[in-house]
Amino acid sequence: MNSHPAVCDLLIRNGYVVTMDGGRRVFPAGAIAVEGKRIVAVGPEREVTAAWRGRRVIDAGGAPVHPGLIDGHYHVTMHGTRGAMSDDPSKPALGGASGISPYGQWFNAMTAEDEYASAQHASLEMLANGYTCFLEAGTVFETDAVAEAVTAVGIRAVLGDPFLWDLTGSMAMAAELDRAPADLARCLSVIGRECRRNEDPDALVRGHVAVYGSGSASDDLLLAGKEAADRHGVVLNQHQSLEAGGVAREDERLGRHPFVHFAELGLLAENTTYVHLNILREDEVEAIVGSGMNVIWHPANYQFYAVGRTTPPRIPDLHGRGVNVALGSDIAKLWTIGEGPLVGYLLAREWGGYLTAEAMFEMQTCAAARAAGLGDRIGSLEVGKRADIVIRSQHRGESHPGLNPVQEMVLIGRTRTVDTVIVDGEVALRGGRAVRVDEDAVHAASRASARRLAAITGQTPGTIWPETL
Ligand SMILES: [Zn+2]
Repeated sequence: MNSHPAVCDLLIRNGYVVTMDGGRRVFPAGAIAVEGKRIVAVGPEREVTAAWRGRRVIDAGGAPVHPGLIDGHYHVTMHGTRGAMSDDPSKPALGGASGISPYGQWFNAMTAEDEYASAQHASLEMLANGYTCFLEAGTVFETDAVAEAVTAVGIRAVLGDPFLWDLTGSMAMAAELDRAPADLARCLSVIGRECRRNEDPDALVRGHVAVYGSGSASDDLLLAGKEAADRHGVVLNQHQSLEAGGVAREDERLGRHPFVHFAELGLLAENTTYVHLNILREDEVEAIVGSGMNVIWHPANYQFYAVGRTTPPRIPDLHGRGVNVALGSDIAKLWTIGEGPLVGYLLAREWGGYLTAEAMFEMQTCAAARAAGLGDRIGSLEVGKRADIVIRSQHRGESHPGLNPVQEMVLIGRTRTVDTVIVDGEVALRGGRAVRVDEDAVHAASRASARRLAAITGQTPGTIWPETL
């Protein structure tokens, strides 16, 4: 122990520090010391302040302090579709005379400026909700523009190569995108390209391997994806088993259930991350448990697609059997980023199960870091990890009476109590406002882009009530 405190860049004191470390330690009167981009001390305040003196000090006011939240699945360039696609499930999925789906038309109409505007809006909304990183779904065309947008806001992203698919039978959109034809040669020519970003150890935006999945990839493409992920030390990520129609087509094509097939191909491993899994059969559950693979769960999508009419949710059971489960928001269309814990908790309850608030919080932090392939860098407050830190506010009713701060934060306050967000040791949000970008300008650009794309794609969004000018 030093007799004189050492100096660090930032000291956060007077926090209810939820570390999410291996022991899930909580320091009710805790402090964190940050030097440069990394955490150098975390623990009881009396110990941390005896050893460290901060050039800058933030008093958390007794509020919870925790690792930055991580979204396991986000289509960052589709943020502007919010409100454009009908929320009425009776409306046909195919739009216009072209026969191309609304999302397909939107992807086809987007320019690099549109992708930038959507990504910056989404990143800003994530930041304001305490999210410091997301795993993108591999649906960005202009990845450099998106990387620039995300970095300007000051959060992290893990991008994939654009639309890796080579089969059109099970997934309609794989036949719709002019710029990303379903073609194995095209995919093999770009696969793993985004991993070039990982050569810079300090890059906020990194790369991984994403194939689109859900029946749009041949075995050759899936195996090439796994090989590239192994070679680059990243995760292979894909959609799978979202809704009944697509799963039935895959059963037919493969002659067996998808996860049984993936297991035989050798794809289920600690560096593979599968998204959705709304429909799983018993033989698939057995293939997944113990494989080490990661699951990204979107409980609101399970409900939106009315999957429960035919299939119970299996993910609470997978979680109970030790599978690494994290949450993803997909596209924040009828919900916003950060609603997953409450929706997942209630979905489990609806079917007689129980997931604790603590389990739901793991799905937003350490489990999500592992699923994104970044478990050694982020997802917990530990010495040596990147200083991605969220400080909550005590100035809202949802933060009280404080008898169970974790439950209050995860299920009741959710993300509305986020006050300050630090990424890589730098303050990116203070008092609920972004520090690095002009929020009004970001929102104006997103509104203009979304209106233009809605007009091009023939969407006629708006309330069903008459609007009088
Ligand atoms: Zn998705």
